Amino acid sequence: MRTFCIANQKGGVGKTTTTVNLAAGLARIGRRVLVVDLDPQGNATMGSGVDKRQLAHSVYQVLLETATIAQARSRSEAGGYDIVGANRELAGAEVELVDLDRRERRLRGALAAVVAEYDFALIDCPPSLSLLTLNGLVAAHGVIVPMQCEYFALEGLSDLVNTIRQVHANLNPDLQLIGLLRVMFDPRITLQQQVSEQLKAHFGNKVFDTVIPRNVRLAEAPSYGQPGVVFDPAAKGAQAFIEFAREMDRRLTPAAAPPPARAAAA
Ligand code: ADP
Ligand code: MG
Repeated sequence: MRTFCIANQKGGVGKTTTTVNLAAGLARIGRRVLVVDLDPQGNATMGSGVDKRQLAHSVYQVLLETATIAQARSRSEAGGYDIVGANRELAGAEVELVDLDRRERRLRGALAAVVAEYDFALIDCPPSLSLLTLNGLVAAHGVIVPMQCEYFALEGLSDLVNTIRQVHANLNPDLQLIGLLRVMFDPRITLQQQVSEQLKAHFGNKVFDTVIPRNVRLAEAPSYGQPGVVFDPAAKGAQAFIEFAREMDRRLTPAAAPPPARAAAA
């Protein structure tokens, strides 16, 4: 199992949309996927068609070690993956964990029990660099950062990159920045093109090839309890996420592609 955090300390940048659509995209190509909702808003839970108000157990109990992942997971029939859901209860975990031992390693410990059951675990992080996000980063091999190509996008990025560096140095030597995913992209906006070029200049191959366009079908899908990839697979946004799932899968299955994945474009 390869574990990834979808993180960005800003809200509304597309973390949850990326998590559920990447999960559904990977499920479509036959990968076994577990989503972990680490945001008390529970948007990934609801967007996967699982009612956050009806959870018998959630990620909250997993973090407090009163439930295992096997007990807390639900099936997203819509998405074709399993999900450990979250709801408002999780907001309390932050405070309760502070005095506990291994407080930042709880999720890592819990996921260790299911590594043989999944190819991918995707962790939807809250919009902060909190103890919840830290649990995600300590549990993960890599971080996927969705971002809009806007003027202030680069500013917040340095905090996140520093946090990843610190976690890598002190808590989780496996952790890497996998890549920056440009989302809600509108190529007609010159500023977005400029920021996109800046990103490539600074981060090189850490910028994913796939670009996710702004697409209203992706925004409509959560109210139907479905990832956009399932809700309207033909829509431009869904197609982009299906391509992104393939790109992630290629990057992680080196035998399936020539080493720099970009060479495939030739
Ligand atoms: P976050 O999890 O970072 O807070 P969300 O994934 O919830 O961000 O996205 C914020 C809002 O933007 C949501 O209403 C979502 O439906 C919408 N959205 C996300 N990605 C796109 C996109 N590519 N095109 C159009 N709307 C999008
Ligand atoms: Mg979210």
